[in-house]
Parts: sequence; C-alpha cells; structure tokens
Amino acid sequence: MSIRVLSDQLASQIAAGEVVERPSSVVKELLENSLDAAATTINIDIREAGRKSIQIADNGVGISADELEIAFLRHATSKLQNVEGLNEIRTLGFRGEALAAIAAVSQLTIVSRAKGANSGTRLSTGIRLTMEGGKKMSRDVVGAPQGTVIGIDNLFFNVPARLKFLKSNMTEKRLIDELVTRYALAYPDVRFRLTHNGRITFQTSGNGNVRDVLLVLYGPEVARQLLDIEADGQQPFADGQQPSADDQQPTTSDQQPITLSGFVGPPSIHWSNRSHITFFVNGRWVKDNSLTYAVIQAYHTLLPTGRYPLGIVFLTLPPQRVDVNVHPSKTEVRFRKGKTPFSAVQRAVRNTLLAEAPINSMTAWSTGSMEAQSPGWEGNLDHDAFVENPQSALELDWGAGTAVPDSESTESSAQTTEGRGELPIMRVIGQVGAAYIITEGPDGLFLIDQHAAHSRVLLEELSSKFEQGQIPQQMLPSGTAVTLLPAQTTLLSANLERFSTLGFQIEPFGPNAFMVRAVPQLLFLLDPAQVVVRLMNKLEQQPTISDNELLNELTQMAAMKAGQTLTSSEMGQMIRQLEQCQEPLMDGNGRPTFIYLSVAQLAREFGRI
Ligand code: ADP
Ligand code: MG
Repeated sequence: MSIRVLSDQLASQIAAGEVVERPSSVVKELLENSLDAAATTINIDIREAGRKSIQIADNGVGISADELEIAFLRHATSKLQNVEGLNEIRTLGFRGEALAAIAAVSQLTIVSRAKGANSGTRLSTGIRLTMEGGKKMSRDVVGAPQGTVIGIDNLFFNVPARLKFLKSNMTEKRLIDELVTRYALAYPDVRFRLTHNGRITFQTSGNGNVRDVLLVLYGPEVARQLLDIEADGQQPFADGQQPSADDQQPTTSDQQPITLSGFVGPPSIHWSNRSHITFFVNGRWVKDNSLTYAVIQAYHTLLPTGRYPLGIVFLTLPPQRVDVNVHPSKTEVRFRKGKTPFSAVQRAVRNTLLAEAPINSMTAWSTGSMEAQSPGWEGNLDHDAFVENPQSALELDWGAGTAVPDSESTESSAQTTEGRGELPIMRVIGQVGAAYIITEGPDGLFLIDQHAAHSRVLLEELSSKFEQGQIPQQMLPSGTAVTLLPAQTTLLSANLERFSTLGFQIEPFGPNAFMVRAVPQLLFLLDPAQVVVRLMNKLEQQPTISDNELLNELTQMAAMKAGQTLTSSEMGQMIRQLEQCQEPLMDGNGRPTFIYLSVAQLAREFGRI
C-alpha cells in the first residue's frame, strides 16, 4: 500500500481514542470545561452509565455564537495562547482536544449562550448546534439561559470496537461517581448534581465548605472523624528530601511555597485498596503513585498490613512548577524544577496523625477500625508469623487407622480417621493465648486456631442452609440505617436480591442510605451497619465474588475471635464440630485451622534424634 495522509475524520477518531476512553472520560472533560468556564452550578445527567446519554449543564461564561463551531475544531482552545503559556497552565483544559474528540465519536447537541450575549433584549437566546460523528448537522437559535448545555448521545456509536472495551454498567457508573465526587471535593464552591437514569445519586450545596461535601460523600460517621491536614505553615518546596533529577538550576519560583491542605482519616479508618487516597494539584485531580505512597508511609505502623488510609490532599504550587502536559487525559503531572512534594506530603500527614492521635502503634488499630472492629480475629495477633509452614501440616497422612464415628470420645487419643485430609480424633488439653486450642492427636500435638476453626464450622453449616434456601434470619424491629459511598450505593442497589438470599432484608432509604430490616441470625450480635459496610468493601474489591466467598465473609465476621477464653467443654464441642467438617483443614480464606507438631518433630527439636 502506498503512503497516504489519513483523512481528517479518521485522524480525529484516532486522536479521540486518547482523550475519550469511556463514558467517565467524557464526563471528566466536560466537567473540566464547565469549571474552567467559572460555572457555579453543574448538573450532570447520565443514562445507562453514560452509554445512552451524558448531559452536562453549567451556568458558566458560555461560548459566543460566532465561536461555537470553532470550539469543535481540533486544537481549538481559548485557554492557551503561545508556547510560553504551556509552562504555566492555570486552567484544567489547554489542549483544545476534548470537544473535537467527543464530537467525533458521538451524536452531540450543544446549546450555549455567552455571558452578556443579547442581554437587555427580552429574548434570551443562545445557539444550538447538533453534530454526528464530528460533522455538523444543524445550527439554530433557541431560548437559553446563560451557560452551556452539552448532550452526548450514543457514545462510540461509530466505533463499535470501543464499546466492546467498556465494562459493566455498574463499573462505568462507579467511575463516573468517583470522578464527580472527587471534583465536588476540590470545588466546594460549586453546586454539583449527578443523576443516573433520572435519579439523584449525589449533590452538593456549593456553600464552599469541604466538610459538607465530605459528609455527603462519606456519611456523618466517617466525616466527623476526618482530620485536617496540618501543613505547619507553608512548606518551602525546595526542602524535600526526595532527590530529583533536574534540580540544578534553582529559579525564583523554586523558592515559592507549596501549600498543602486536605483531610486524612484517623488510623481507625482504613480500606482494602488505595482508591480513597486522592490528590489534587492546583485543582486538578491527578493520579500519582509516589504521592500516594507518601501518604501510606505516613501511616507506617499505624495500619494493619494490606490496609490503606483515607486521604484527600490539595496541593497548590506555582503553575510553572507542574507539567500537566504529560498525557492527553491530563491525569498525570510531573513536578518540574526541584524536589517533588513527596516529603512535604509525608511530613504533613504524619504530623497531623501524631498531633491528633498520639501513636500507640499496637492499639491504634486493634481497638477501633471500621472493619476490624467486627469480631474477626485480625485484631492483634500476627497470625501469619505464627504459622510457619502450614503446608507441612496439610500434607500429613494420618495413616490408615480405624475411623471412629461420631462419639463423645474426644478423650480417645489413639484412633484416627482415614486419610483424605480429615482430622483425627483429638483430646483437648487446653487453650493458649486465648486464641489457640491445644489438643493431642495420634503421634503429636495440634495447635488449633479457634477463629479459623470456628469459621470453618460456621461456613459449612451456613453453606448447607444456603443451598436449601433457608438461612435463618433475625428481624431488626426498628431497623438500622446505613449510609454508603455513592459507588457502593450503586453496588448495593444492584445486589439487593442477592443479599436477601443471604438472609438480609435491606431496602433503599433515601440517597446513599439503606435500611437494614433483617440480618442472618448468625450475625445478630454484630452492628448491622458495619456488617453491610464490610460486605460492600468486599464486593467492591471483588465484583465477581462467588456466593461461597460471600458466605465465608459472613462467617469470618461471626466466628469467635482470638482473645476469647473457652471452657473445656466449649473447646471439646468445637473440636468435635471441626472433626465433622467436610474440609476441616483450612478456613474459607485458606488459612490453616491448625498446626501439627509430631512427636518425631518434638524429638528433633529437643535434640533427641
Ligand atoms: P480545552 O478545554 O482544552 O480548551 P476543549 O475542546 O475542551 O478544549 O474546549 C474548547 C473550547 O471550548 C474551550 O477552550 C472553551 O473556550 C470552550 N468551551 C468548552 N466547553 C465550554 C463550557 N462549558 N463553557 C464555556 N466554554 C466552553
Ligand atoms: Mg477542555
């Protein structure tokens, strides 16, 4: 084939791919345009997670009638004039790509009336333009308030390949929720409203108070606990300890301060992933692994491993010091000239934590975490360190002894059941550390993790009841209300049916709130709100979670925790139940229920052989 220049339309579709990846990227670009246009009210209406339509209406400065078509040309922008401007971007947009890109892959309608246009006349009119696949279809004059309304219908109607890459509506919707809620945090002066299929999922008052936005986002319980980041005055940017490659030429802007503000959660609030650590650099939501790590490090020793804090950090620095022109999506930045704000962030967050909650690293999280508060064992024992070699215990062959059927004889020590990873009959000796039951079995000693064992027993009971479709329920006469994050609200709404098969009765109860009317009987001693929140975290983390894994999550919560002293008859009962399990060797998380020390091993340890 000969070399040819691509047609304009093809070139813009290719370019569009970089800017518009999915519905949430459209929302992002349009939101940023509205914010750049100094809008104080932004309404976002989404249908079918943005596949069917996305509409954003703002009351910003609008686009004048004679510039409306120009705005849709590639590389057309009012925000960047010359090369020098690229070094100090003060607006969210600057590449002049978004409108062209979005128009190229959708059916678009824009109505805009510029500030001051035909003011004084009785008729308030703006211009309406419709486009399809980047081609102008119509232009007419319509009545319109000041501002801009852009409607995107049938996104990717002409690039079916893109459609195939979209995730489920639930995921796409969650990405939009995340985006809008983040921007609402960074722009508390702006009144945001987000609706999905006509229903309001999120709205803010625009009263300028970030705490009010946090309240909408995280609910009163969490919002109340969030700590203001103490930035001990202004941090001179140059004092960071992170070395940087290009800091040879200090300029005056190097000495300009970086200001840092925001919120962090106390160590008692933590999540299973990093998605609650958010950064804004000069009002732009950015993803930055290094800064995220700075926050995580600040919590060092305060959080259980594998758990992540909540942090919302606003960095403001001279625009000359940030390069946002890294990627068309503008979600990454590079810090120019000098040190990165890494250590400034780390120090400020750490100081905040130290000031608010004097650190007692062992108890900080074992007493009051959102999720670990439920009686899971993962409180204060380092289980993993204890189980040195779980595999060796599981590979044991108990030999071909005679099976002893269900009997009260936990006292009999010598007999074993047949292989297949079943447990032998054991004799209870006692309990150690209020966490492990010591038993004697054939040729050795067993240390049984009481939480793991109990959760295994409960799991098998619950699974069989689940299969019969009759998990016993406990009604909660007055109900318990629970407030979730918008993204979790979507998730729970989509899963109400499933939750009812698990023994819950949950109904919608206003925006982002639910009323829990019944819980599985197994859990009735626990706080229903915490149970639901924990399940939602799990579901969010693992959208395709199986029924069995969910049942396991329930039993993990319900199982007795480490720290509970047991009588010998309770221990005996637990051991008998464990012996009768189909898969007694591990709990539902794959943790061993016991460690085995053979007599031979003991002899070796004592240097007898
Ligand atoms: P950029 O934001 O990078 O300038 P866009 O393609 O997103 O590029 O927008 C092109 C131009 O259209 C903007 O520079 C701005 O002048 C105008 N514009 C876009 N959206 C709006 C809006 N909601 N209100 C006012 N002007 C807008
Ligand atoms: Mg833009």
